[in-house]
Amino acid sequence: MNPVLDIRNLTIEYDTPTGVFTAVRNVSFSLAPGERFGLVGESGSGKSTTILALMRMLRGGRVASGDLLLNGRDVSAIPEREFRTVRFAQMSLVPQGAMSSLNPVLRIGRQIGDLFDDHGVRHGRDERRRAIGSLLQRVGLPPEAQDRFPHELSGGMKQRVCIAMSIALGPSLILADEPTSALDVMVQKQVLATLGRVQKDLGAAIVLIGHDMALMAHFVDRIGVMYRGELVEMGPVREVFASPKHDYTRMLIESLPSFDAPRALRRAAQGATFARGG
Ligand code: ADP
Repeated sequence: MNPVLDIRNLTIEYDTPTGVFTAVRNVSFSLAPGERFGLVGESGSGKSTTILALMRMLRGGRVASGDLLLNGRDVSAIPEREFRTVRFAQMSLVPQGAMSSLNPVLRIGRQIGDLFDDHGVRHGRDERRRAIGSLLQRVGLPPEAQDRFPHELSGGMKQRVCIAMSIALGPSLILADEPTSALDVMVQKQVLATLGRVQKDLGAAIVLIGHDMALMAHFVDRIGVMYRGELVEMGPVREVFASPKHDYTRMLIESLPSFDAPRALRRAAQGATFARGG
């Protein structure tokens, strides 16, 4: 089966006042349809830079070499106008902070409606309201949430709205950049479970970025570990947990709280994921 995403020898540079800084170096990985891939690594290791390059949202940086193929197409060769339709329809981003990605002065329904309009999805008025309502229900929100402004919703609800927007046009790839890091632990698990459920329903592949190995182990099929811009280790989650090759991976696993580590390992070994069914 052709990969949804194929990243080959990707190198990304930023221009800084002190010279060119290589944030991502020779990174390669690919995702099969529906696959869940986790990118872990400490802050500054190049995880966000990698997926921002894919979304063509790099600020002050550039792809110095390598290829980014989305459903077999070279992302950098897609004309800007066409690329606007690729975002959301083929690949969408669930950002780190829902706060900053939702427009504070527009009701939720209007923001989702604008997304439909931008992509030429036409509805009659009642039909639009129903479509938005059912989309919100898919992520565990009441349909009436469309009448709210972002500040009237909790952090978890706002992140659910972002998830709803990310699946609104049925993309084949979802990029989720620490989608739950700003939330309380309990809410984190629920929101991640929702993301897992809608991703599975849609059959989309997902790249989940995070630094919490335990959370990752529950969610992904395969894991890639980034360290200082390089992908230092990659493999099925149970294999990486059972025999980590890189010192940094070992450290990440050993740093799990002791009550979590055996559980995460056991889960990984069973291939069970709490998010898969939920
Ligand atoms: P992560 O997502 O793993 O935390 P990032 O991809 O955000 O890491 O950052 C990787 C590296 O690139 C870091 O050293 C960061 O300081 C640097 N970086 C990120 N954005 C910029 C930028 N706009 N200009 C210069 N350096 C940047």
